Amino acid sequence: MKNLSKHCVDFIDDAKLDSLATGVKEDKARVREIIAKSMEKKPLAVEETAVLLSAESPDLIEEIFNAARQLKKDVYGNRIVIFAPLYIGNYCVNDCVYCAFRRSLRTTVRKTLNQDELIGQIEALEDAGHKRLILVFGEHPDYTADFMADTVRAVYSIRKGPGEIRRVNINAAPMDHEGYKKVKDAGIGTYQIFQETYHHGTYAKVHPAQTHKGDYLWRLDGLSRAFEAGCDDMGIGALFGLYNWKFEVLGLVTHSHHLQKTYGVGPHTISFPRIRPAHGVELDEKYFVSDYNFKRLVAILRLSVPYTGMILTARETAEVRREVMSFGVSQIDAGTRIELAGYTKKGSQELNKEQFQIGDVRPMEEILRDLMDNGYVPSFCTSCYRSGRTGQIFMEYAIPGFIEKFCTPNALLTLEEYLLDYAGAETRKTGEKLIASELSKISEGPQKKKLVERLNNIKNAGERDLYF
Ligand code: SAM
Ligand code: SF4
Repeated sequence: MKNLSKHCVDFIDDAKLDSLATGVKEDKARVREIIAKSMEKKPLAVEETAVLLSAESPDLIEEIFNAARQLKKDVYGNRIVIFAPLYIGNYCVNDCVYCAFRRSLRTTVRKTLNQDELIGQIEALEDAGHKRLILVFGEHPDYTADFMADTVRAVYSIRKGPGEIRRVNINAAPMDHEGYKKVKDAGIGTYQIFQETYHHGTYAKVHPAQTHKGDYLWRLDGLSRAFEAGCDDMGIGALFGLYNWKFEVLGLVTHSHHLQKTYGVGPHTISFPRIRPAHGVELDEKYFVSDYNFKRLVAILRLSVPYTGMILTARETAEVRREVMSFGVSQIDAGTRIELAGYTKKGSQELNKEQFQIGDVRPMEEILRDLMDNGYVPSFCTSCYRSGRTGQIFMEYAIPGFIEKFCTPNALLTLEEYLLDYAGAETRKTGEKLIASELSKISEGPQKKKLVERLNNIKNAGERDLYF
């Protein structure tokens, strides 16, 4: 028997969300009223989010874009946190129609990293300067909670030169309470589960009933069990392109409210992957999301859940990422390879070994330079999670002065480490200029003095891993 969470309830009402997604008429005054509310950093109700989704006039949509840009600046500043995904194994018992790892696809090359391969991948990621990873697993009896926990511990223990992985997140199938406890004990950061589609009918269509993933409620309830088992850092997401994008936005906001209301803590992050071409996958394109609507959904999510981190992955092209970033993204992956053991391989993507095709294949350093050229500060900060500032104890960003006190200094300290240990001469020059310019914006006082001291200790005394 499956043990669901204590407060398990199916909180997604298809008829209600469908009617909010399609039945709300654009009312300019009301849209502007809600934009104004969101600018006060107040989370929006599902019905209010539906009003923003109803905006169809280009000028009104432009106002939503501008508000999202402003809110991102106010809440997150110009930092972008950098991570990389690491696929551990692509065996899978499920049969999701959109995924190249689905079990019925015999032509996919299957693999689980062995110990030596894991070490090789981590060393390569550390050599690129990475500090934060998300481990990705198919769903398979081999990938037990113990296996995942052991993998997490192994990742933390692998060190090459000045390299170390300081935060390991997981994206995998939902588990039971006991499983979550095991991975939590191994020191994971975020546990991420995407509902894929919140629409029941579509969910059933793309996840065959006799598979594990075919159980909608087990998945919807997955992060509630995670919370009850002690993981207070959760990531939600929807795979855009399976059903009406407006419905999925409302589903994400409903899920966020449910976690907040039930457990006092909303999701730490929201992901909004768009379906990509994949080996052996042919999908009806009816619900595919255009670039313009993608921008709308990111901007509206930003306004609806002002304090939730938003993740934009390398599924998107460099051009799309550059543009969408300004609407409220707080984390991106860089130097991404999703082929199993791909971080030690040269050459282009081989689709029969990968879950889907990625859109941004640039190396890490190129992405970082691009970010800095556009005024962003790449950050490798892992401080909150390591200082116990997670969940209810410490709602990130909700505290006045949070960015000035923690985020900006930690971004600059970790960027300095990167520049010294991993960057080429050109990147280092760009980065040092950026750090100096960011320092000049910080007002004089004990906090700045401490930061300058720590930057000097990194530069001149070889110290590492200094954080606030
Ligand atoms: N097997 C676990 C699961 O399904 O929860 C791990 C997740 S999977 C390896 C990571 C995510 O990739 C999925 O949750 C899904 O949203 C996304 N994904 C699958 N196929 C995709 C495709 N063709 N294009 C873009 N994203 C895809
Ligand atoms: Fe398996 Fe996840 Fe792919 Fe579904 S999305 S087939 S569960 S790896």
